[in-house]
Amino acid sequence: MIIHLGVDDIDSPRGGCTTHFIYRLLGKWLHDPKVKLIDYPNLIRLNPGVPWKTRGNGALVLRLDTSRDPEDLLEEALAYAEEYVSEYRHPESQPGIVLYKGEINALLEWFSRKALSDIVSLTLLDRIVGKLGDKIIYRRITGGRRGLIGSLAGIGYRMTRTDYTYELIAYRSEENYGKPRKVPSESVKKMAMVTRGRTFLNYDWETNKTLILPHGPDPVLLGIRGEEPEDVLEAFGMLDIEEPVEGALIFRTNQHTDAHLLRINNLREAYIYRSVRIKVRVHSKPKRITGGHVIFSVTDGVYVIDVAAYEPTGHFRNIVEELLPGDTIEVMGVVRPMSRRHGPTINLEKLHVIALAPNVKLLNPLCPRCGSRLKSAGKNKGFKCPKCGLRARDLYKEIVYLERKISPGWYEPPPRAFKHLMKPLERFGKEKKGFPERYIPTNFYLKGKSYFIA
Ligand SMILES: [Zn+2]
Repeated sequence: MIIHLGVDDIDSPRGGCTTHFIYRLLGKWLHDPKVKLIDYPNLIRLNPGVPWKTRGNGALVLRLDTSRDPEDLLEEALAYAEEYVSEYRHPESQPGIVLYKGEINALLEWFSRKALSDIVSLTLLDRIVGKLGDKIIYRRITGGRRGLIGSLAGIGYRMTRTDYTYELIAYRSEENYGKPRKVPSESVKKMAMVTRGRTFLNYDWETNKTLILPHGPDPVLLGIRGEEPEDVLEAFGMLDIEEPVEGALIFRTNQHTDAHLLRINNLREAYIYRSVRIKVRVHSKPKRITGGHVIFSVTDGVYVIDVAAYEPTGHFRNIVEELLPGDTIEVMGVVRPMSRRHGPTINLEKLHVIALAPNVKLLNPLCPRCGSRLKSAGKNKGFKCPKCGLRARDLYKEIVYLERKISPGWYEPPPRAFKHLMKPLERFGKEKKGFPERYIPTNFYLKGKSYFIA
């Protein structure tokens, strides 16, 4: 029987603890011939705009083929989750586990799609749960029902027809939790260079910063993101890791696929907390404000909304600052609610410049007698020459086309400013559209040994 077990974010930067929980849970079933994985463990990131999310807003899903009673597996997972949560729990998380039996149906797919871009209410959750009937069993571990939204949405996002990537996550030995991670940046840099094009967002070249190491006290040693399992494994093997590695697991994930961006046609659909993508015109000239953020407004012809490129996006702001009213662009990002100081604002994740408006400057004409630049003689009074005193009414302003410093195309922030779902430009054209044809036999790595769970 095919079953899906979804666990929502037990919390930690980069979903570390939830992936660690899954890694440990799989360890318990590693030698059980009646439990087989039919997919890599899935790490599904959900709408980054959700205000009450724990940090990563992600769900973990195990898709299994089992001849055991599915409810026994749920009970085992639950018992272990309770044990795990008491040890690592974040006070604000509302972890839950969902068991779903059989193939994913269209209703659940729709629900997942919604949870990727929108806010899902508990009322909608209840309605979906009601309609799914006995296909699902759900259990809260602690807190409210909110965590179940993530677990259920994760299960419904099957990644058989949508793009995906992989992340190899390695875990630390418990005695090192909270201590600095001993992975020298030189080897990370080398790895990023050698595997360039096959791994991504692992190193920020602009600031020479390693991006694979989280900073919190969580069990995650590092995470390497890449296109294929072979790539992240190869990259992992290239690192000089100067501390014991408890184990590592490769996740199939919707990270860095832009799966959260919902195409909308007018700004009326730019609801607060929604992740959107929309073609608009620049309405006001970008302004750099205190704190270094660059703000401008855009319009769909009817509505106007602010767009912001925040300070951490570095040089990306310089591009944004070159936009002019009239430019046709596509903006992508989460719609943030208004505050006392600003209206609803799209937090710019990527910019697609489609067409540039001419940069026109109107100059007073030159004096036909002496060649000096004329001055205005006052409203509706024509021009006068500051040098020779000529007055003229029948002259027109001169149109000067100034150079535009940007060209049509795609622009993105530096790697360090990337969030989980944002797709880097280097991934354009590498989108996957089908289920992976095979596992590689090093799916699960524990204490120096590799296992194949399938
Ligand atoms: Zn003159």
